[in-house]
Amino acid sequence: MKRRTEERPVLRVQDLSVHFEVHEGSLLRSRTHVLKAVNGVSFDLRAGETLGVVGESGCGKSTLARAVLGLIRPHRGRVMWLGENLSELEEEALRKRRKELQIVFQDPLASLNPRMTVGDIIAEPLWTFFPKFAKVQVEERVRGMMKMVGLLPNQINRYPHEFSGGQCQRIGIARALVLNPKLIICDEPVSALDVSIQAQIINLLKDLQKKLNLSLIFIAHDLSVVKHISDRVMVMYLGRTMEISTREALYRKPLHPYTSALVKAVPIPDPKMARLRPDTGLTGDMPSPLSLPPGCVFHTRCPYKVKRCQFDVPALRRMENGDWAACHRTEELDLTISKPENGGAD
Ligand code: SF4
Repeated sequence: MKRRTEERPVLRVQDLSVHFEVHEGSLLRSRTHVLKAVNGVSFDLRAGETLGVVGESGCGKSTLARAVLGLIRPHRGRVMWLGENLSELEEEALRKRRKELQIVFQDPLASLNPRMTVGDIIAEPLWTFFPKFAKVQVEERVRGMMKMVGLLPNQINRYPHEFSGGQCQRIGIARALVLNPKLIICDEPVSALDVSIQAQIINLLKDLQKKLNLSLIFIAHDLSVVKHISDRVMVMYLGRTMEISTREALYRKPLHPYTSALVKAVPIPDPKMARLRPDTGLTGDMPSPLSLPPGCVFHTRCPYKVKRCQFDVPALRRMENGDWAACHRTEELDLTISKPENGGAD
């Protein structure tokens, strides 16, 4: 059953673009290209809601995460957090806001300082934001966080290399939670972990979200990972949003041909079922983000493209059911997923 979420968005991202200049060649003969990592992305997020963000590597997911957190200044657009425009805040004001917005990184071990004890790693944000806290108060809070994420508080003086990958990710989650944030961005938090451990971390995040009424943005490169945690899913391709749909609708009847290909690419554990499913329909590789195709950025791989797609950029439009898609042909295409794919996606 779909989790109930409050209706008013806590986060509103509007027309966000992040561009980088990339220099090529020698000092004497250099050329500058503009890499449009994120290009006009808009979405909102409600309290207690999880938005899955999915796309192949290079589609701009991680850049989007950093722009939302204010770690990268956007080239254009706004990030509204509880009605305040973060993109306009000075560094000091933004730093204070960051207490409410935290991130969990992809590589659990690499993201933890190997020379610090687990206790110090989790306590560090508290020392930074509340330098006057008493040592005993901080230790009590850290031990409480360790318990909450399924670690033994008596391991407080151990070092990251003494823990498994899944335990290191629990340490990263405890550190992200220690300041009582309202939003956590999980940037591929399980992609470096074994499948069985992935499920444990996803279940932990779901439990914590329920307990703490957290809003989550959960980034992954394939749809199978986000399915079990997301209320809605945003699909990105070459810096643009292709679709934003509720989880139920997206896996059953995607609105965009790219989403349909991603759903068909979800691994199916049963080899018999896997043989029955149709091809994803995708042709070729993703073009370089340094030279985006004109028109619909997906047209070079889309099996449904028409002439218009080569020059006319499709806007992200709201459909009758409230979901969003950026495709000229959404209304005329029926991309319903037949049984074998559903079997694998479940
Ligand atoms: Fe395919 Fe055209 Fe739709 Fe793009 S706009 S997804 S190329 S049909």
